[in-house]
Amino acid sequence: MNPIVQVQRHGDIAVIVVDNPPVNTITAAARAGMNEALDQVGNDPSIRAVILRCQGNNFFTGADINEFSGPPKEAEYRALWARFEGLKVPMIAAMHGSSIGGGLELALACHYRVAPPSAKFMLPEVTLGIIPGAGGTQRLPRLVGLENALRIIFDAKPVDATRACELGLIDEIIEGDFVTGALHYAQGLVAQAAGPRPTSGRGVDAGPLTPEFTAKWQAEARRLYPNRTAALTALDSVSASAKLPFAEGLLYEDKLANQTKVTVEARGAIHVFFAERESRKVDGLPPGEARKIARAGVVGAGTMGGGIAIAFANAGVPVTLLDANEEGLARGLKVVDSTFESMVKRGRIDAAEKARRLGFIQGSLSYGDLASSDVIIEAVYESMDLKRKIFTELDKVAKPGALLATNTSTLDVNQIAAAVKRPEDVIGLHFFSPANVMPLLEVVRTDSSSPTAIRTSMELAKVLRKTPVLARVCYGFIGNRMMEGYAREALRLTLEGETPRRVDGILEQFGMAMGILAVFDMAGIDVGVNVHRTNAHRYPPDPTYYQADAALHAVGRLGQKTGKGFYRYEKGDRTRHDDPEALEILKRRAAELGVEARAHSDQEIQERCIFPLLNEGLRILEEGVAQRASDVDVVWCMGYGFPRYRGGPMFYADTLGLPALLAGMERYKSTYGPMHWEPAPLLVRLVREGRTLADWDHERRQAAEKS
Ligand code: NAD
Repeated sequence: MNPIVQVQRHGDIAVIVVDNPPVNTITAAARAGMNEALDQVGNDPSIRAVILRCQGNNFFTGADINEFSGPPKEAEYRALWARFEGLKVPMIAAMHGSSIGGGLELALACHYRVAPPSAKFMLPEVTLGIIPGAGGTQRLPRLVGLENALRIIFDAKPVDATRACELGLIDEIIEGDFVTGALHYAQGLVAQAAGPRPTSGRGVDAGPLTPEFTAKWQAEARRLYPNRTAALTALDSVSASAKLPFAEGLLYEDKLANQTKVTVEARGAIHVFFAERESRKVDGLPPGEARKIARAGVVGAGTMGGGIAIAFANAGVPVTLLDANEEGLARGLKVVDSTFESMVKRGRIDAAEKARRLGFIQGSLSYGDLASSDVIIEAVYESMDLKRKIFTELDKVAKPGALLATNTSTLDVNQIAAAVKRPEDVIGLHFFSPANVMPLLEVVRTDSSSPTAIRTSMELAKVLRKTPVLARVCYGFIGNRMMEGYAREALRLTLEGETPRRVDGILEQFGMAMGILAVFDMAGIDVGVNVHRTNAHRYPPDPTYYQADAALHAVGRLGQKTGKGFYRYEKGDRTRHDDPEALEILKRRAAELGVEARAHSDQEIQERCIFPLLNEGLRILEEGVAQRASDVDVVWCMGYGFPRYRGGPMFYADTLGLPALLAGMERYKSTYGPMHWEPAPLLVRLVREGRTLADWDHERRQAAEKS
């Protein structure tokens, strides 16, 4: 008996049941099992209809991403689908839960499709830089027409069962028990003597395929997926379904699918996918166990502390939230309550669930209440004295082996660790705001963090459903350290006469989720200015350094919260409006500083912001602050809105070409001086040796593994 695929009999109906946990990926083993099942049902004349369904929470969720780097599998998929489609009796896909990517394409090759009301259908390929290359672009238009097929492929979002039924993507919605209902449906087809109904046998109405139609969808592809080609390729392939016979269309799709796989956008997306898994691994850690995390404590019930407490409650871990006084605690708990309330309003949870989650959070004013916590995270104001004082308190009350973590963004975690008698238990856990939403967690190991503390922190990330990236102590760790030069240049460009809209616009065109000046407005201009004031001694002697934001701060323009920053905002609305007043302030500050306005090309604006970011990433790698280049990519894609389709900044540096990056750094160095434009030594070396960053990273890690 095949462990993944079984054939059940219900009278003259055969049911092929696939059980490939956790999410029914179409792995090689699943394909082999289905082939065996088809051998069995295809040769049995007593079978009058076949149902294909899955165990678990969903129908198939797509191809096995681990196979992406190997030889193309399309031909194998095509052959398997053709066997389903070629059955001489009705072949019914019973699709509960989600049907995604290759999973939906398999169902399209079945003769009939049924689903429960909660089912969802989705083709996410273009967001991964590829096209639905297992027949999807040829069969989908045969079922729903060209326009709807393109909508589904371009949107790459779940289509619900009602809509799918309206479109003809599925034939029937089955209420009640789904397995029984699907069986009744099959029996009904047998009773009606319904025959096989291969999708490939249907035609596609070529009527809509005018030049205007093509131009409209090309424009849509560029609008939805700027800098990328997969959606345009999908348009080409879907259009072919109306021009070519089915078999030729499939081959055309195959050719295009293989072309997409080698594009930077596809390789970048796959790179980030694997990078996220890789970042959980800690190189060179001796074997051992993580400590259990059954209870948590958070000190400081402000923006971050409240968010972190919510993250624990969402994960079902009881947490004590402590603040210095009644007022601070009450304010914090109120924010926690309203965060859950907004989740209720948005339909994410119901009132009972809100109450359940709130039940995990216990407010406190006494350090004694933290005695049973397995992990305590400090999130008070950014002050070394205060943090050290708090760690001294924690040292007195925390149980032996408790993980003592700080959420500091800028302070030296080694110094904080030195405040306690058990520095081996101290670590930095740098959450991103809002901490209950943002998926990234920088884990900052100190010089004395024990392997157990590191392991427990990585495990904690898993409990909180976050992606951890390990860093060593340095100013700004990985993410904020790389942001420094990026933001510095964006700010400086506004002093050189560029409008915030132009600078942000170019960064967004590059693919950043939000331009950095708009980010400042959102986060609060005071936040950055305060960090810079406290850390002024660290910064280069550049009088123009972080002056644009300081100028706005000086007149109380703190960003969205005051309705004015780099942009102007209407009350209760985050839409950015240009504001001549801001431009005037920036112009005045530039004049005071003697910064002259000059014209910049789009290319210069982009490079001046992005190149320092890449250059700093190379320094971080060479210093060993990050374990691996792909970790840097994870930090920037998950925490800072760097486009995944560019694979993150380090992957991008290689695709851009290190020689081009070095040439750019040298060019700006000669224009703007060496203070900010010194190329990273690693960059110079790799260019000299004609190597890529990926090569260097790979070799370094192999050497580390051997030693
Ligand atoms: P915040 O001002 O919102 O909150 C600080 C909280 O600490 C307040 O509720 C205050 O009452 C409380 N507090 C002050 N002294 C205390 C004491 N002695 N004991 C207990 N509680 C005390 O600050 P925040 O934005 O949440 O930042 C907290 C920390 O997180 C800082 O180290 C900051 O650098 C870091 N951080 C902030 C962000 C962000 O985006 N805000 C992101 C990452 C890290």
